[in-house]
Amino acid sequence: MLEIAKNYILSTHGPLDMVEHIVKVPGISLNVYSFLLDGVLIDTASPGLHTQFFDFIAQKNVEHIIHTHLHEDHIGNTADMIEKFGIEAHIHPLSVAKTTLEMRLPAYRQTVWGPPPKPFISQPLSNTFTSANDRWAIIPTPGHTQDHVALYNQQHGYLFTGDLFVTPKPKIVLIDENILDTMASLEKVLTYDFDTMICHHAGVIENGRELVQMKLDYLQEIQQRVHKLAREGNDVFEVTQQLFPKHYPIVEQSHTEWSAMHMVRVFMNQR
Ligand SMILES: [Zn+2]
Repeated sequence: MLEIAKNYILSTHGPLDMVEHIVKVPGISLNVYSFLLDGVLIDTASPGLHTQFFDFIAQKNVEHIIHTHLHEDHIGNTADMIEKFGIEAHIHPLSVAKTTLEMRLPAYRQTVWGPPPKPFISQPLSNTFTSANDRWAIIPTPGHTQDHVALYNQQHGYLFTGDLFVTPKPKIVLIDENILDTMASLEKVLTYDFDTMICHHAGVIENGRELVQMKLDYLQEIQQRVHKLAREGNDVFEVTQQLFPKHYPIVEQSHTEWSAMHMVRVFMNQR
């Protein structure tokens, strides 16, 4: 029997309430946050974190749910939230029909995040959103997924980045990620007036603007190196091996759903 350890940390940052969920299985440790600001709940963790998530929600006033994208660690408890509180959940228009369908997930993701999320009815996001006291800009930021959005809270100047940022120097990405779209999305969020970035895997980052710029610079450098190695006649496997020689167990564990090659391939196909 696989041992799974689950933990969670509740905290606040000014008016923001948050929970960091931590899941440990042998060989993998992952985390995901949910945030609550002015009655807006941003993402609902994974189905396997049901108990921890509802501990966070207890005694809180949730009026709306906004999803950054349709991944199981971001929509996992939405169906139960809707059933319990009768509130609406919002997501990018591309995913409105998909939230009503059963999600099919590889076994390794179910090991970490639990069984697939229950389907639910969602409403399409538009460019802005209004909560009790705050106005929000909804910023389409494709890359990690096509339906990804970032949220900019105008009252506090906070930028919620979902899975757009995660780390300044990614070495592996999901097979569906379009790294060129990610770069365009990083450039797009830099046009907003923010310093505090709120990331669903890295938490609250005060110098967020600087780190977004750092990730963009890093990806531009990787892009140039990929193009150079490709010009010298290396194929996608050789370029990946030269730029990312380190072994990451998740590459095998995910049957290469996660790999550096998914970054390299997109850069090479660009040429
Ligand atoms: Zn994601």
